[in-house]
Parts: sequence; structure tokens; C-alpha cells
Amino acid sequence: MADNETPCCSFCGAEKSASVPLIAGNDGRICEACVKLAHQVVASWGQRRKSQELAPQLRTPSEYKKHLDESVIGQESAKETLSVAVYNHYLRLLNSNREPVCQLSEQVELEKSNILMAGPSGTGKTLLVRTLARILGVPFASADATTLTQAGYVGDDVDSIISRLLDAAGGDVQQAQWGIVYIDEVDKLAKRSGGGTAVRDISGEGVQQALLKMVEGTEVRIAKSGRRSEHSEEQVVDTRNILFIAGGAFPGLEELVRSRLQPKSGGIGFHAAPPRQEKPSINELLSALMPDDLHEFGLIPEFIGRFPIITFLQELDHAMLLRILTEPRNALVKQYKQLFAYQGITLEVTDQALSFIADQALVRKTGARGLRAVLESALQRTMFEMPSKPLLRSCTLDLLEQDAGGQALAVLEGFAEPGEQASQPAPPAASEAAAGPPRLAVDL
Ligand code: ADP
Repeated sequence: MADNETPCCSFCGAEKSASVPLIAGNDGRICEACVKLAHQVVASWGQRRKSQELAPQLRTPSEYKKHLDESVIGQESAKETLSVAVYNHYLRLLNSNREPVCQLSEQVELEKSNILMAGPSGTGKTLLVRTLARILGVPFASADATTLTQAGYVGDDVDSIISRLLDAAGGDVQQAQWGIVYIDEVDKLAKRSGGGTAVRDISGEGVQQALLKMVEGTEVRIAKSGRRSEHSEEQVVDTRNILFIAGGAFPGLEELVRSRLQPKSGGIGFHAAPPRQEKPSINELLSALMPDDLHEFGLIPEFIGRFPIITFLQELDHAMLLRILTEPRNALVKQYKQLFAYQGITLEVTDQALSFIADQALVRKTGARGLRAVLESALQRTMFEMPSKPLLRSCTLDLLEQDAGGQALAVLEGFAEPGEQASQPAPPAASEAAAGPPRLAVDL
């Protein structure tokens, strides 16, 4: 460039002037408009990179199901529904920046598929969602609908869920926008009119309205409060792509389905269906669940409409409870065995004891949660005394006949000879610490 020539932007050719200042580099210059354009382009690379970062974690629905099988016993239909819904959701997100691939002349916009899970308490709803989020490697937050209030009321407003999700994403907004939110106990937001278990007044409807907006897609502003963010006072999370999963026990819902399927005033004449001899089970009824039943239950239609995928979880029977005790990745018995092994003691639980624990859990009617309560109380005394018994080597939880009649769980203890104490290998806690962290998560 000759000395008397006016410098120009090397990208768009705009001449330097008082209103068009240029930033000079070694061999060229750039104007403000081109800097802004370049920033937009680079930001879109960032978005694409995020998509690519998540891409390797997208597996087939059957692979998701296989992973879920490792942690969750039974609930086949819910596992399948969730696997497909999650796969479609992330497939849609990963392709949202792409050109349309099908032959359709117009671009088809895929709608988000939030999921609603109905099923008794303690049957694995939270476990399913938590496990899915872990498999996917996306941030996960769960909230209890009963603790939420409308904006302006005392309590957590619905935005607090997104704040928690952002925390789970380590403050990374992009990452949070890929996350999964689980809202438990949505059945408690229902407005029940006639009879039933009236639990919440009109404020439940207000929370449904507030959730509606968030589930549909809105921008939630979250104060940075303590989170590192140099540039702004608040972070804005767009909830459009967050996958929302709602869950609830919906007590009495099966009765609503039953009255829809078998109206009391049965028809007469040739077209009347012959009365069924045996009553349909809860599981059969829930499998026939329709959105209208949820409306009848007391959820507002707009709220139900935001959860187009409905699935249900079965009540756990004795056989499933038995499997839950020993089979899953983090099965309760495995966890207690690990806890005992940390202290150099082996723990065995006999089949009779396992069966008794499952029976007791059924009586409690709290699903698989009851298992832990029964096992904890059976082992409590032993866990209290164990650290003070250096010669204790093994414990067997068994079912014994009581003198007074009946049966009860009891722990049989096995001790080492006094001389053996010194020659015992170091308890696993020490050796395992040297070998790295244990593979089993003990989260009792
Ligand atoms: P809810 O349906 O009330 O959300 P959770 O998922 O919180 O129930 O289950 C409570 C606990 O019970 C879980 O942490 C898990 O250990 C156990 N559990 C419940 N259902 C199952 C299941 N189907 N398979 C394995 N464990 C289960």
C-alpha cells in the first residue's frame, strides 16, 4: 500500500474513517463489523463443537436399555420408552444445525418429547432417569414438585431447578442446555375435586403453569451468585432443548382408568361386552393410561400436553425385590458386603434371609426403599459392635426360628483364633486404598 492510500478493511474493503476505525495486524486490517461477524462465526463453531462432544455418547436405544438393565430391575416397558425418547431427543439436538436430510421440500421441525412416568413410589423412577443421565454424560437435576411455588411466593420457584442444573453442569450454560431435569411428585400438583386424596389447592395449578413455560422453552436468568463468571452478573439458560421428565405415583389413577374402561352402568343388549370375571391388575390398568385420565386426575391439559410420552412403572413384586437386593450394579447386598469388607469381614446373606427381607419390604409398601430399611435394621447392631471386635472375620445374615415362635433375621458371627490376629492380612480397606478406589459405589 502506498503511503498516501487510505487504509481499508482487509475483509470487506471498507475504508478507514472516523466512524470506521480499523484494527491493524501484521499484514492487514479489520473493521468493527467484520470483527462482529467473525465472532458470530466462531461462536457457531463452539456450538458445533459442543454437539460433537456429545455425539460419541449417542448410542442406540437398545444399548441404552442394556445399560439400564444393569442398574434397574424389571420395568421393561418404561426402560424401552425412555431409551427411545432419549435417543430421539439427542438425535434431534445433534442434527438441529444440519441441513434437512430427507426428501421433504420443507424443513420439518421436530418437537421435543418430554416424558411423564407414572408409577408407585420406590419402583425406580428416579433411578431410571439418574442412570440415563449418567450413561449419556449430560448434567442432571431433580426437583420435588411439592417444594416448588409460583414466582413471588415463599419457597423455591421453578427457576431454581435450572439453577441446580447449571450447578450440575459446573456453570457451563451450553452444557446445562443439553441436560435432563426430573420433576418428581407432579401428581401432587393436581387439583382433585370429588373425593380422592385432595393434596394441593389452586397453587398447584399455578406451579403447573409456571412449569409449563419452562418445559416449553423459555430463557431463565440466573444470578451468578458465587458462580465464576467474569463477564456478566447473570447467566441466561435457554430451556428449549432441556429434556424434562416428570414422575409421580398418581394414587388412584388406576381407578380412573378402570372406570373409563368398565363404566359402572354397563351396556345391555347384544352389543354389551360380557363382564370380565377377574379384575384387571393395577399394571394392566396403567398400561391403558390415556392423557384424559391424567386430566381427570387433576392435571391441567396444557401441562399434560407438554409431556407427549407417557409411560408407567410396575409395582414391584416379591421376585423383583429379591433380584433388586442382589443383581443391580450397586445392589444393596453388594454395598453392605463392600462396607463389611472395608473392615476385613465377609458378609453373607442366606437365601431365606433375602426372601424374608423382600417379604418385609412388601409389607411396608414403599417399593424397593423398604429393602434398605429392613436390611439396615437387621445389620445395625452388628455394624455398631463390629469395629470393636478385632477377631471378627465373618457375618452371616440368616433367618432363625424364634423361641417364642415365628422367625426373625439374625447375624451369625465367625471369629478368628486369638493367635491368628497378627497373621491376618491387612483389611481390604488398606489394600484397596493402595490399589485405587473401589469399583462399587457404596452410597448407603
Ligand atoms: P421412585 O420411583 O420413588 O423415584 P427410586 O428410583 O428413588 O424410586 O427408588 C428408590 C431406591 O430403590 C433406588 O435408589 C434403588 O436403589 C431402589 N430401586 C427402586 N426400584 C428399583 C428397580 N426397579 N431396580 C433396582 N433398584 C430399584
